[in-house]
Amino acid sequence: MIGAVCVFCGSSPGDRPVFADAARALGTTLAHRGIRLVYGGGNVGLMGVVADAALAAGGEVVGVIPEALFAKEVAHGGLTKLHRVQSMHERKTLMYDLSDGFIALPGGIGTLEEIFEILTWGQLGLHQKPCGFLNVEGYFDPLLAFMDEMVSRRFVKEKHRALVMTSPDVDGLLERFERFHPPRLDKWIEPGET
Ligand code: AMP
Repeated sequence: MIGAVCVFCGSSPGDRPVFADAARALGTTLAHRGIRLVYGGGNVGLMGVVADAALAAGGEVVGVIPEALFAKEVAHGGLTKLHRVQSMHERKTLMYDLSDGFIALPGGIGTLEEIFEILTWGQLGLHQKPCGFLNVEGYFDPLLAFMDEMVSRRFVKEKHRALVMTSPDVDGLLERFERFHPPRLDKWIEPGET
């Protein structure tokens, strides 16, 4: 049962309106499904769009923002709850604790860093929470192709690659989340395994 989803996304809007449309659709759908949105607490780029859409649709939105970013006045003023924390590390830990699943919308370095940290914890077997990319108009295609390359070059195992869910649309991704049965994972090589 998914009660809260953490969304990582660009602090920029990207170069085309289709990205903001997807962020809006995600925020609205989460609210309609009664799923709380957890996110970085900003009011900029796709972050502001997803939060505004969830709030406008009657959803609960929880932000987690470090004091340094709050001081720059990029925090959203109208959230259900805004946690102010001391560091980026504390932020990510709290976002992780508050969430039952994680979605990356298109974004930049921060977005990738956040979702890959969660995937790293997943492949170590530290959690069994679903993680996915909302692949808006194929934005993540080169990254997903590189992940396949990592598998074929034997830096990533198939079972770990399989943790990365993708869908071009919000409903498809959330349905995959609901059906997700976490494999028993252990990053470390078993005796006899190559
Ligand atoms: P990026 O993809 O590089 O734009 O970084 C976006 C991610 O980094 C978000 O998911 C946030 O957690 C964090 N972030 C970056 N810029 C901001 C900001 N101005 N306000 C709040 N969070 C931010």
